[in-house]
Amino acid sequence: MIRYTERMKTDVDDTKTTEITSFDDLDLSSVMRRALRDAGFEEPTPIQSSLIPAALEGEDVIGQARTGTGKTAAFGIPILEQLDPLEECRDPQAIIIVPTRELADQVGREIVMLSKGVPTEVAVLAGGKDIKRQLRVLENGVQIVVGTPGRLHDHLQRRSLRTDKVWCVVLDEADRMLDIGFRPQIERILRRCSKDRQTLLLSATLPPTVRKLAESYMHHPLVVDCCDKDI
Ligand code: ADP
Ligand code: MG
Repeated sequence: MIRYTERMKTDVDDTKTTEITSFDDLDLSSVMRRALRDAGFEEPTPIQSSLIPAALEGEDVIGQARTGTGKTAAFGIPILEQLDPLEECRDPQAIIIVPTRELADQVGREIVMLSKGVPTEVAVLAGGKDIKRQLRVLENGVQIVVGTPGRLHDHLQRRSLRTDKVWCVVLDEADRMLDIGFRPQIERILRRCSKDRQTLLLSATLPPTVRKLAESYMHHPLVVDCCDKDI
């Protein structure tokens, strides 16, 4: 049983419990279930069981779980399930902020894998990469952007990254990003996105710096702590 242990601004009555042991228990599209099968994902990991239903309901969620426990799919699945198709919206709908270029590539690949069966445009906007190519990709229309804070901020300043259609922002490895010193860039990105957006924050640890960021930029987030659970 997974328990939503805590809300940051707690009303205890909101504590929910849920039992999800199979992807079939989640209300996923048939194309997503197929993509999961093709990826060899047989059952959800604990962070996926907890985070996916809450994210699908539009909640802000803080997910705390160790490395290698499937956090990418935990936020990737609900985003992909709720995307407007490219022919309806050519501006980014979700921005996933990650600490490093390597992680941006990795998260981008995983999202593309999970989007199998539905044409989906994912742009990886990492620092140290050719910006002209990134500008062309953005110009052509994208649905999901994965990037490092510095480069995303750069694109915001150039107005090449539009945020008016963004309904979800993910802060992946938030503790690491703050350790690196990306707080100013992260805050500027968050401030440029609609206040009505959904914010999902993933972190291996929740030090006061991360909690403070969450308090400032998230809306009554649920805190899902899966740190005592392995896959
Ligand atoms: P984290 O972000 O928590 O460090 P990742 O999202 O990078 O973890 O996932 C680690 C690995 O586990 C990836 O190779 C991913 O494809 C795989 N994975 C994720 N969820 C599942 C699942 N439900 N079943 C099997 N493998 C999974
Ligand atoms: Mg990760």
